[in-house]
This record gives sequence, structure tokens and C-alpha cells, in this order.
Amino acid sequence: MIKLCSGCRQADLKRKMVTLTTTLVGKTYSARVPGFICDNCGADEVGDYELYAFELSVAKKLLDAPELLGQAFRYCRRTYGLSRHNYAHHNSIPPEEIRRLEENNATVGGRIRGPIMRSIDEAYNKLGYKPDISVA
Ligand SMILES: [Zn+2]
Repeated sequence: MIKLCSGCRQADLKRKMVTLTTTLVGKTYSARVPGFICDNCGADEVGDYELYAFELSVAKKLLDAPELLGQAFRYCRRTYGLSRHNYAHHNSIPPEEIRRLEENNATVGGRIRGPIMRSIDEAYNKLGYKPDISVA
């Protein structure tokens, strides 16, 4: 199947390294990942797998830091694909406690941090491609 540009729908894509960035809690996380640039409209894009690998690697970086704040926790939870309700339910945590931590960007303690760390670690270790994340 021919891969078309998601912007202009032309088949003018060339392989190119693309920079992905995300800003969380005042820090910018970025990485160069393999992607495409459109010779017709100039838009660049990356595939689902590279985007997933980037998000998972950012989550791993957030969880490796000594302190995990509520917004970073939310990023990790969403990257893993869990709603607040499901995370609370599966780990016997009151959903209101998670909401409070996320909305106040408060420090997330070990009891709530533990399960997402294990899940992200497991998924990260299975990645065939691990983007090199830089933090600024
Ligand atoms: Zn295009």
C-alpha cells in the first residue's frame, strides 16, 4: 500500500529524522526519531510505533526521577492507556485521591507510583526501539 501524506494526501514522503517534543511540569523532553517528510507540502510525520516508543521513553524518564509530580503521573498513566478510574480500581486506590494528586500536581507517593512504574518498566523493556530522550 502506498503511504500518503496525512496533510496533503500526496505520495511524496521521504524518510527523515523528525524531532518529537513534549513539555511537562516545566521541562521539555525531546528525541529524534525516524519519520517522514512530505516533498509536496513540507509536513513531517512519524509512525504510530515511533510515537509510542517516544511517549513510553518519556514516561520511563519521568518515573526514573526521584520525585514524581501529579502531571507527570497523569502522562505516564495515559501513555500506558489507563483511565483514572481503571488505575484506581485495579490498584484499590480511591479515584478522588488520584484526581487530587493530578489536579494539584502534588508529589505522588510510592503506593500510587509503584504500579505504574512496574507497568511502564515492563513495556519499556519490550521496546525494540528506544529513542534517546533529552531533557531541557
Ligand atoms: Zn504533504
